[in-house]
Amino acid sequence: MNRGDYMLIDLSEVLSEPHKPLDVTAACTMRTFQGKAGVYPVVPEEDAHITAEYRGSGKLLINGECRLKVLIPCDRCLKEIPVEFDLNFTKRVLVSEPEEDSGQTEEYDEANYIDGYHLDVDKLLYNEILIGWPMKVLCCEDCKGMCSVCGQNLNEGTCDCEDPGLDPRMSVIRDVFKNFKEV
Ligand SMILES: [Zn+2]
Ligand SMILES: [Zn+2]
Repeated sequence: MNRGDYMLIDLSEVLSEPHKPLDVTAACTMRTFQGKAGVYPVVPEEDAHITAEYRGSGKLLINGECRLKVLIPCDRCLKEIPVEFDLNFTKRVLVSEPEEDSGQTEEYDEANYIDGYHLDVDKLLYNEILIGWPMKVLCCEDCKGMCSVCGQNLNEGTCDCEDPGLDPRMSVIRDVFKNFKEV
């Protein structure tokens, strides 16, 4: 087993020798995750363990394991929550066109993480984090959220703002009454 402290794995040896798997433990160097809605800090928990085996005819089989946490804000109160990603995946990649058409219609994964003879571990993990991204992140089941007026985290205390949950049509009526009183 090799140990690498960088995010690129050299595939040149494994690709020249079919059925002699490569077994690498590489540090996850990703420190932030660029998501659709923002940038999130990444806390690696365990090194990535990657195995790659060349099956011939351009077919590469990759197995990966990595445990890390991404700090994602709670959907309601925006407090950062460490969300654990226990990644464990298998990828079937075509690194070159098969020499002859074997007639097989196997499915291959898109390998934007392989560039020539190098496998980019961070890019590979990035895809897996994206796939496993939670639909919903809550700090707790009954998170009270935050005040939409002053931003107070309502789990940690209350504020003196008027109930922001009030129907806006009601506040119009309230304002009418207020004005009426002032006259
Ligand atoms: Zn919350
Ligand atoms: Zn408030």
